[in-house]
Amino acid sequence: MEDQNNNKDEGNYEKICYICHRSESKAGPMISMPGGMCLCRDCMQKAFDSLSKSGMDFSKLPPMPYMNLNFSDMPVQPVEIPKKQKIKKCSGKQPALTMKDIPAPHQIKAKLDEYVIGQEKAKKAVCVAVYNHYKRAFLSGSKEDGKDEDVVIQKSNILMVGPTGSGKTYLVKTLAKLLDVPLAIADATSLTEAGYIGDDIESVVSKLLAAADNDIERAEKGIIFIDEIDKIAKKKQTTTRDVSGESVQQELLKLLEGSVVEVPVGSTQKNAMTPTASVNTDNILFICGGAFPDLEDIIKERLSKKTSMGFGSVLKDAYERDPDILSYVTGEDLRVFGMIPEFLGRLPVTVTLRGLDEEMLVRILKEPRNAIIKQYEKLLAMDEVKLVFEDDALEWIAKEALKRGTGARALRAVLEEFMLDIMYEIPKDPNIGSVVVTRPYLEKNGGPLIRMRG
Ligand code: ADP
Repeated sequence: MEDQNNNKDEGNYEKICYICHRSESKAGPMISMPGGMCLCRDCMQKAFDSLSKSGMDFSKLPPMPYMNLNFSDMPVQPVEIPKKQKIKKCSGKQPALTMKDIPAPHQIKAKLDEYVIGQEKAKKAVCVAVYNHYKRAFLSGSKEDGKDEDVVIQKSNILMVGPTGSGKTYLVKTLAKLLDVPLAIADATSLTEAGYIGDDIESVVSKLLAAADNDIERAEKGIIFIDEIDKIAKKKQTTTRDVSGESVQQELLKLLEGSVVEVPVGSTQKNAMTPTASVNTDNILFICGGAFPDLEDIIKERLSKKTSMGFGSVLKDAYERDPDILSYVTGEDLRVFGMIPEFLGRLPVTVTLRGLDEEMLVRILKEPRNAIIKQYEKLLAMDEVKLVFEDDALEWIAKEALKRGTGARALRAVLEEFMLDIMYEIPKDPNIGSVVVTRPYLEKNGGPLIRMRG
């Protein structure tokens, strides 16, 4: 003991493996890792084995001296190990973003209209927010002289509120496709405060990097959609630490605002061996979406409180029946719901989507570019069979879907039940020229109308 205390020269200590705790005399020569950590040969091998099993291709990594070590020839002094591998931005100059690359809001909307039915206000708001977002990215990219601007444009991250199946995810997906930017869709329910079971906040950036094929510059101009954001509302009564609610909102703040985060590449989990990359989230557009159940009641309560005097009751009745009640949402309502003010502050654009009614559902069945009906028509056209849906059959499908309460998501499920027989039977007979799906067929009061060729 005394000996050890007297001996200040660390080089005289025996090295201990960080993982199995065996000493150098038992486990053989040690490999020094960054941060003063040592690993024995066996533990190092195990680490490599588990990484190869998870699909990592070592041949793509730059040379790492310890990977090909011949331990018998190993010098007494441990070799110098490079720091954990960091993926750098491509040095090849990417063409800088120019104003010409950014389509005007009306152009983006015209394209969106081909896919997303209705939700006019939401589409307009999203297009303007996206346009401003990329203008801001353009400004920050061209501000190389370091001059401080008087007017700093705030990030236009978006909060999207709308019932299930109203098209939130679909709108964002279509937008990313039209703008040709990478998109990551994450679920807020899987996120937890760092150190707890669940995904770390940075995992959403890892997903975006993967969507951009690990091209950091592309990822830095991408879109991150965090769904089910209402599930991280502050818990009303908690005695324990709220690791998946308020704490997640707190941890998301920096990401939403714009900061440089260190994310693992090719994995959503950080560990000592995973290469990492620094990603700046400043020009990443964050869109947070959620159904916010009960928010309607909060809005109605606030509105009816305001109008509880005089003609209040008439107005209160009108609010009760207003299908677009969500569009009256304020920051205060969202705060009452459980979103913290700092979090809402980072999502300055609030967009609301309305619940879909029967008429909208009929339009969704037939109008979008890749409408479900068009998809079936195309499939049967390959058998040279014409498929026709009667109008009242479409109305029946919309009514049935509405009953399921999952918005447009139910359309495909309802339709598939009936299309299965048609898709199975029709190709049997090459003489069939057309099939008409009628309401009696859907109501199980008859079959579809079939016409032969010629
Ligand atoms: P959510 O609001 O729950 O995110 P989604 O965007 O996932 O809903 O919608 C489910 C599906 O319904 C989409 O994939 C899309 O096919 C269809 N859909 C929903 N809303 C619309 C819409 N307004 N226009 C066209 N299709 C829609």
